[in-house]
Amino acid sequence: MHNLAVSGGYWNLRVAQKPKTCLEARVDNCEKMVKRVGLTEIIAHKDAYLKETDSTVVAVWPEGVVLDRTVFYPGGGGQPPDSGTLVSGDREYRVSGLKRLDGSLVHLIDGDGPDKGTTIHGIVDWDRRYQLMRTHSALHILCGVIWRDLGVSVTGGNMKPLAARMDFDLAEMSADFAEQMEETINREVAAERDIRVGLLPRDEAMKVPDLIRTKINLLPPQITEVRTVEIVGLDLQADGGTHVANTREVGHIRIVGHESKGKGNKRLRIALDSQ
Ligand SMILES: [Zn+2]
Repeated sequence: MHNLAVSGGYWNLRVAQKPKTCLEARVDNCEKMVKRVGLTEIIAHKDAYLKETDSTVVAVWPEGVVLDRTVFYPGGGGQPPDSGTLVSGDREYRVSGLKRLDGSLVHLIDGDGPDKGTTIHGIVDWDRRYQLMRTHSALHILCGVIWRDLGVSVTGGNMKPLAARMDFDLAEMSADFAEQMEETINREVAAERDIRVGLLPRDEAMKVPDLIRTKINLLPPQITEVRTVEIVGLDLQADGGTHVANTREVGHIRIVGHESKGKGNKRLRIALDSQ
């Protein structure tokens, strides 16, 4: 185990030595680590439970609008972007998703959207988003357990609401293994572990073995802080996603499939109850 007390006492980390972590280990885009994309403040990075907020349209694209701040999750790290509604007076605009275009975060709207300068009230499709938070946290439980118990790292993964898959660098995977794993991960749900989001100064993050190996060195130099998600006592990784605050919110996790994707690459599929 490695202990790190960040100067200033902002927070303490206790982490296992890990060669590689969850799907976010594959830092496929760096924006997910920052609190702002272009002109847009991403509230979900700080507060995953805020469902609606007022904001202003700062740019209009053929595909939709850019806002000064948003409660919508932009997508990244295997978690799809949110959908929802923008309301302005008696007008409602459906947001089907979000897309990064030329460094701007565009809320995708079919047809005409609100004009530049319009004040709007953005509301995220909360049921779907909360399902994705639970699913994302379930994946972190799974990769945390597999690393802790087997020392095996993640090679890929993906998620949709209440269902996900994750690939591991494993030589073999049996039905017995899947059954045992289901039992173990549900013990972690029942352990009611807190899930904490934090920000570390880049210099400090570069000293944490878990984070070094999530390839945070690939982050552009202008990024001075690294967002982290910690399942207390189980898992720590650099992550831009939205998570529940405690593992009990994930609920029962079922392992619904296991398959081989080739030598040294085995896949587990999980499903969550709708609650
Ligand atoms: Zn993640």
